Amino acid sequence: MNLIMFGPPGSGKGTQSNNIINNFNLKQVSTGDLLRSEIKIQTDLGKKIESTINNGELVSDDVVNTLIKKIISDPKNFNRLIFDGYPRTITQVYSLEKLLIEFNQKISIVFYLHVDKEIVSKRVNGRVICSKCFRIFNVYLNPPNAKNHKCEKKYLEKRIDDNSKTILNRYETYVTKTKSILDYYKKMKLLLEIDGNQKIAEIYHKIKGILENIRD
Ligand code: AMP
Repeated sequence: MNLIMFGPPGSGKGTQSNNIINNFNLKQVSTGDLLRSEIKIQTDLGKKIESTINNGELVSDDVVNTLIKKIISDPKNFNRLIFDGYPRTITQVYSLEKLLIEFNQKISIVFYLHVDKEIVSKRVNGRVICSKCFRIFNVYLNPPNAKNHKCEKKYLEKRIDDNSKTILNRYETYVTKTKSILDYYKKMKLLLEIDGNQKIAEIYHKIKGILENIRD
């Protein structure tokens, strides 16, 4: 099965995707992570998109669709992808649809994690990510400690775009683009709305129950 995790920044898409891959034989594709790694190793693409990402704006559809095509076309990933942060525009929705048809696959479900703006702000401001094991923590809500995180503290990093100024821009961008995407997946009868304001474990419990009943 292929899944889409949809929701605003800080809605828990990455955290829940991490939980899912620990229990199901699926692979997470975060377009945000792919783009950040281009910046980290300063590829030509990375240099071009750095300021766009740091300002909280969307990277062009062409760039993102090309990255996604590489992943969908890889036979190792056949029918086992969790799209985290993609698609984010209606053009990306149509491009994904075309790619899935071309590579003989489909989306089984779209989880829409619905979260209040105040909670998004708290989650994003507190977010830290381990650059070694890629686990996501929150210094206020889910702090890393000796029990839940084995890597050294020096690997914990804050994203440059996780700050109060940029988060508002990212949230507004999300809201502007959202409606047509949600309408599309609702029409396709693939959209499942989940209250993302709940605790991580409660949300995952719901997601797990649903995935266990999907047979393709
Ligand atoms: P994320 O890690 O999903 O919060 O994404 C971080 C940033 O990467 C976003 O604010 C955008 O600048 C860029 N980005 C990630 N995914 C996409 C996408 N599907 N389309 C365009 N830009 C994206």
